[in-house]
Amino acid sequence: MKKWTRLLTALMAALLICGMFAACGKGSEVAEIKKSGKLVVLTSSDFPPFEYQGEEGGTIGVDMEICQAIADELGVELEVVDMDFADIPAAVAAGKGHIAAAGMTVTEERRQIMDFTESYLPAAQYLLVPAGSGIKTAADLEGKVVGVQVGTTGDHFATQQGNAKSIERYATLTEASAALMSGKLDAVVVDELPARAIAAQNADKLEVAGEKLTEEEYALGIAKDSDLLKKANKVIAELKEEGKIDAFVSNHSMK
Ligand code: GLN
Repeated sequence: MKKWTRLLTALMAALLICGMFAACGKGSEVAEIKKSGKLVVLTSSDFPPFEYQGEEGGTIGVDMEICQAIADELGVELEVVDMDFADIPAAVAAGKGHIAAAGMTVTEERRQIMDFTESYLPAAQYLLVPAGSGIKTAADLEGKVVGVQVGTTGDHFATQQGNAKSIERYATLTEASAALMSGKLDAVVVDELPARAIAAQNADKLEVAGEKLTEEEYALGIAKDSDLLKKANKVIAELKEEGKIDAFVSNHSMK
């Protein structure tokens, strides 16, 4: 009898502790990831140096290095799921993956449906234009055909600016850059480092114009109220402190 009472007390104490720490048992995303053995990252892999197709296949880049470090911290494998950028916030909110890692800018709108980690890098929108086009500033977009990737901060900037003749919205950056190369567009509003990567790949055809149009911050997106947020923030803080994020950027920029 005494044995049973002791067992019951122990059980109740365990339940109480579990209740106190959300990280224990059901409701813990970290526990669920460890159990499944994989951290699923949602991305859109045409955004160098953050995510792009490696020569040996598979998605590589700055964001993938950060997610790999988080997977290592949790002792699990990293699995990459590729999708259109605009679909990523809703997908992470719906639990289709654990982390959105897509050169994603922190915005209030996105904060409505998911949480963001601490920022890992500053970001900015720039204009990617045909070489020698003369387009230098946002004012020069007056009457021009401007391309953006739908649902991005570049889309938001071009829409707010409101001086373009038309804004062409593409699902992927690859399609937007192809349209720019083929003369269908006068400019593409896009994040600085991808703009520089695309300009470098098409050196005599495209260039990055003028100065930055916006001030933004990159962070990883995580489903709301998940205990994964704290783990991810810890890893990001360590990577920043060790100068690893800057090293990832230079390793994944054109050599
Ligand atoms: N940083 C931009 C945004 O968050 C673009 C991201 C992207 O196209 N991958 O909207």
